[in-house]
Amino acid sequence: MKKISSLIASVALGVAVFASSAFAETKGVVGISMPTKTSTRWISDGETMEKLFKEAGFTPDLQFADDDIPNQLAQIENMVTKGAKVLVIGAIDGTTLSDILQKAGESGVKVIAYDRLIRESANVDYYATFDNFQVGVLQATSLVNGLKAKFADTKPWNVELFGGSPDDNNAFFFYDGAMSVLQPLIDSGDIVIKSGQTGMEQVGTLRWDGTVAQARMENLLSSTYTDAKVNGVLSPYDGLSIGILSALKGVGYGSGDMVMPVVTGQDAELPSVKSILADEQYSTVFKDTRELAKVAVHMVESIMDGKEPEVNDTKTYNNGVKVVPSYLLKPVAVDKSNVKDVMISSGYYTADQIGN
Ligand code: BGC
Repeated sequence: MKKISSLIASVALGVAVFASSAFAETKGVVGISMPTKTSTRWISDGETMEKLFKEAGFTPDLQFADDDIPNQLAQIENMVTKGAKVLVIGAIDGTTLSDILQKAGESGVKVIAYDRLIRESANVDYYATFDNFQVGVLQATSLVNGLKAKFADTKPWNVELFGGSPDDNNAFFFYDGAMSVLQPLIDSGDIVIKSGQTGMEQVGTLRWDGTVAQARMENLLSSTYTDAKVNGVLSPYDGLSIGILSALKGVGYGSGDMVMPVVTGQDAELPSVKSILADEQYSTVFKDTRELAKVAVHMVESIMDGKEPEVNDTKTYNNGVKVVPSYLLKPVAVDKSNVKDVMISSGYYTADQIGN
């Protein structure tokens, strides 16, 4: 009798344990809203966070907005309706989210701006990103190094400037960082912006669209470079660099005596890493999105534990309403001399993926 009752008790206990693990309350829903899938970095950001949040006991709700603002708004609205406790948002247009974030804030939902600052809203609690000004400094420094290496005898150097999307706060930081290096050389006459097009109003590329950059480069080549050669192009993102390189190759750069201009980039996307190894794109900036995902997940864990997340910058990122406490990671410049080592030793790509 004793045996039977202890058997029943242990079966009951087993059922209870099974039931509690199968239907265990997670630590809550975390909405992850990424801007697009057109660039692999955002897929990797989203998927890494999804995995880490699951491991930490949360229920992630990962959505990609296809670079469509109403789509992103609807996805975030849906996350709030589902009861998300925290939203991690890589905004398409950093100024369009105020209303939905107001609603989220009123329901006690915390908001982390991911990589891109969310502007004009008081309902942004933290910002996880890279040192965006430094990204621009690295791009321009590498441009100048490339000009010195490839065009030592052809000063002044003819350079054209490309900016990122004017609705992305980062684009201004990249541009300003780059100009902090280039402006003194423009002032001294070492660099000439032959088209005369400068400033984000003239050089910005809406939605970071590579085809737009390619078309602008084609126009620059036919309007400004019929009797002169372009030596360098400041490009803030690999997706634009590939378009710019197509335009350059289209008129013969990279063959015969048409030396390929120095073209920069950002994100170390696989096609650009290969292009660098093939002596086309000159450099890129590697930002380890796995590390950024970790920062965001730690922030959420701290918030949910009722603690203040760790930040390392409380001055730089004023979103128009408040200075958002931020955690900045360090970007790394890579060119042909170190790209393979850095990308493989960090485990970001395998040797097979890179090939060559
Ligand atoms: C990111 C860059 C990226 C660009 C285009 C920026 O906000 O910081 O890493 O190249 O968006 O996706």
